[in-house]
Amino acid sequence: MVQRTDAGTDLIRLAWPDVGAAEAEAVAEVLESGQLTMGPKVEEFERGLAAACGTEHAVVVSSGTAALHLAVLALGIGPGDEVLVPAYTFPATANVVAFVGAKPVLVDVDPETMNLDPQKLEPGPRTKAIVAVDLFGRPARIELLPGGVSVLEDAAGALGAKRQGRPCGSLGALACLSFHPRKIVTTGEGGAVTTDDAELADAIRRMRHHGIEPRGGFEIAHAGLNYRLSDILCAVGIPQLARLGELFEARTRIAAGYTERLRDIVETPSADEGDVHGWQAYVIQVDGAADKIAALREQGIEAQVGTYALHRLAAYRDQGEFPGASRVFERAVALPFHTRLSESDLDRVAEALTSLVSK
Ligand SMILES: *Cc1c(COP(=O)(O)O)cnc(C)c1O
Repeated sequence: MVQRTDAGTDLIRLAWPDVGAAEAEAVAEVLESGQLTMGPKVEEFERGLAAACGTEHAVVVSSGTAALHLAVLALGIGPGDEVLVPAYTFPATANVVAFVGAKPVLVDVDPETMNLDPQKLEPGPRTKAIVAVDLFGRPARIELLPGGVSVLEDAAGALGAKRQGRPCGSLGALACLSFHPRKIVTTGEGGAVTTDDAELADAIRRMRHHGIEPRGGFEIAHAGLNYRLSDILCAVGIPQLARLGELFEARTRIAAGYTERLRDIVETPSADEGDVHGWQAYVIQVDGAADKIAALREQGIEAQVGTYALHRLAAYRDQGEFPGASRVFERAVALPFHTRLSESDLDRVAEALTSLVSK
C-alpha cells in the first residue's frame, strides 16, 4: 500500500524490507514443523552466513546489539578496560562496551569516509580492543589500524561489502552482523557473530544459551543469557541470504542512480578504490542537514539523520571535541533507500534536494 502525504503526493519511505512469498512460505513450514527454536534452520542460516563472510564460524543471535555484546564479552572485556570506538556511529557500538563496565574511548572519524580516522587512534595501556565500524556499508580501512590490539568489526550494515577483496564480516578477530529491517538481509530482528576462532565461537554459543557448553552436558561453568534467534526468524533469513546477490545488485543500482543525479549538488557516498560498498544506507553530506531533512519530509520524502555523534549524547559527554564527528553529524542525510524505489522516485528526491541546495 502506498501511503499519501497531506499534499496528496505519494510518500517515499526511508526503508522497505525486501521480503515476500519465499520468506512467508519458509516461516509457514517452520510453524507446521513444530520446532520453533533450536532446530535445523539455525544451523542452516549459520552455514550460509559463514560462507557469505568467508569465516569458519557464524553464530546467530537475537540482534546486532546482542552480537556486539557477546563479542565484547568473548574478548574478555570488562571493568578497567578501555575500547576505542568511533565518535560517529550507531550508539550500540559504544553502549555494549559501557554495559560490560568498560570505558568506550571515543575516536574521531574522517569526515570523508565517515569511518574511524586511523591517524587519530592512540591505544593506551588499558586499550583492550578497537571497534571498527563499516558505517552504512562502507568498508573500514582496517589494515591501517595499529597492530597488537584485538579488532572487533561492527559489520552490522556491511554484509556483502568487501575490503580489497576480503568480505566484510571477516576483517577482525570477530565481526557482528545485524538483520534489522534497514539492513540488506533482514529477519525483522536478528544478528550474528562471525569469526575464524573456534574458541571465540564456542564462547558466543555458550553465552547466547544460558552458559551451557555447546557440546557438553548440563554443567554451567559461567553464567550466560538467552540471546538465541528462533527457527522462525532463521527461516526468514535463509531465503534472504540466498538472494543476497540480487538484493545487493538492486541496492547498488539505486545508489548509482542517486549518485548520477546528485554528484554535482551534494557530497555523495563512495568506497575506496578496490572496495565494494555494502549500501546499508545512502547517506549524503550537505550543509544544514537538519533543515534539509525537515524540508524533504514536508514534501513526503522520508529522509533521516545519518547516525549519532556520540559525544553529543549525555551518556558519552566529556570526552572532548570530535570535529570530524560533529561535521558529519551536522551534514549527513540518509535518503530513502530500498529496492522498491523507482526511477521517478529518485528523480523526485533529486529535484527536491537540488532546489533546497540552490536556495
Ligand atoms: C544496525 C546497527 C547496529 C545494531 O543492530 P541491531 O540489530 O539493530 O541491534 C549496530 N551497529 C551498526 C553500525 C548498525 O548499523
